[in-house]
Amino acid sequence: MATVTEKLEGMDVWLYHGRIYIPNTYSAGAIGSRFLIELRDNKRIMGARCPACNRVYVPARSVCKDCFGQLDELVEVSSRGTLLTYTVCQRGSRVQPVETPIIYGIIQLDGADNGFVHMLGEVEPEQLRIGMRVQAVFKEKREASILDIKYFKPLG
Ligand SMILES: [Zn+2]
Repeated sequence: MATVTEKLEGMDVWLYHGRIYIPNTYSAGAIGSRFLIELRDNKRIMGARCPACNRVYVPARSVCKDCFGQLDELVEVSSRGTLLTYTVCQRGSRVQPVETPIIYGIIQLDGADNGFVHMLGEVEPEQLRIGMRVQAVFKEKREASILDIKYFKPLG
């Protein structure tokens, strides 16, 4: 791993520049686990509805980002949605699960109030349009992972 050091101008302080690969694991939590199990067992995308402000978050989360209310009601949202924005990554990395180029999109699923980050497939980058309709493509063999959704493809 290449590193570079430099002295901070006018000070007796040295800076060390490097890159650290940090594998990590965290609990999906009770509601996040239910979200993943529904993906695996029923190919259903679940959101969490806030009882106070009625917002529906996908993926399901345990706390409302607006009012900090506790969320424990799951509601099914559509596997179809609208592409809000996207980016095309030409370079892969060890944490990317697919071949490049990778197209990431933020998709607002029908019935949800927030954007859902996932990959897009069966589409060329030049065909992408903000506002286009897309739908989830599920893997045949699912394992309670966000990648049980293979990608979203344009609605044909
Ligand atoms: Zn709320």
